[in-house]
Amino acid sequence: MVTHRATVCLTFDFDAISLWIGPYQATSPSMISRGEFGVVGVERILRLLARRNIPATFFVTGHTADTYPDSVRAIAAAGHEIGHHGYLHENPVALTREEERAVLERGLAALDRAAGVLPRGYRSPAWDNSPHTIALLEEFGFHYESSLMGHDFLPYWARVGDVIHRDRAYEFGRPSRIVEIPVSWILDDFPHFEYVRLGNRLSPGLSAPSKVEEIWRGEFDFMYREVEGGVLTLTMHPQVIGRGHRMLMLERLIDYFAGHDGVRFATLAQVADEFRAAHPPA
Ligand SMILES: [Zn+2]
Repeated sequence: MVTHRATVCLTFDFDAISLWIGPYQATSPSMISRGEFGVVGVERILRLLARRNIPATFFVTGHTADTYPDSVRAIAAAGHEIGHHGYLHENPVALTREEERAVLERGLAALDRAAGVLPRGYRSPAWDNSPHTIALLEEFGFHYESSLMGHDFLPYWARVGDVIHRDRAYEFGRPSRIVEIPVSWILDDFPHFEYVRLGNRLSPGLSAPSKVEEIWRGEFDFMYREVEGGVLTLTMHPQVIGRGHRMLMLERLIDYFAGHDGVRFATLAQVADEFRAAHPPA
């Protein structure tokens, strides 16, 4: 008997070259080629999603949309959702409010140019919202964002105007009109898999898929048993998950999730709409 329904959201951050020449400031063709591989990954992901008839959400940087418009159009043509992910993968915390606004505008223009898309969702590069991010997203009319970690399986209203006090209680701001669909580093393929050595920075990565599969299945199993109406949001990157042995892992996971009664796959926009309908803003 189905006691509750669970939702799985497959999300793919299509950073391509922007990740390497933006935050990593790479100039070598070898580093840049790692981003180029994202295009191969997108083709494989689209084929898998089509075979399983599953909708997904792709967060695309403006630079990726300008560089690879055909890939972005293929994502849109396959019926998947496209969200905003900065222009050159800028970390919003490093930007002034006006710079952050300009990046939002540049990203919107690029997605429109490439695929005529007006995104309803936003995911900040590096999942590092600035104190201005939510208010700017309200101003631009976004419906949801997916960068915070205040829950694991349930959406909530993101807040505006928190004040940090270190000598007394933390001050929570007002609930915004932006639905938060939370994420987690344990549910992100990049730190598990991607080996990056730059200067004195080392991300070891290179995990066996069996380890990641165990973690992701464990999160799903707990949610399925304990959290009614839970939403499992996986964050993947075409240039990471697109490698052969990891694509096989993703395929196994999809079939595992789908093998449970009452599980469906949805886009984040759909989850945000349903949350909004069930929890009207004050
Ligand atoms: Zn990204």
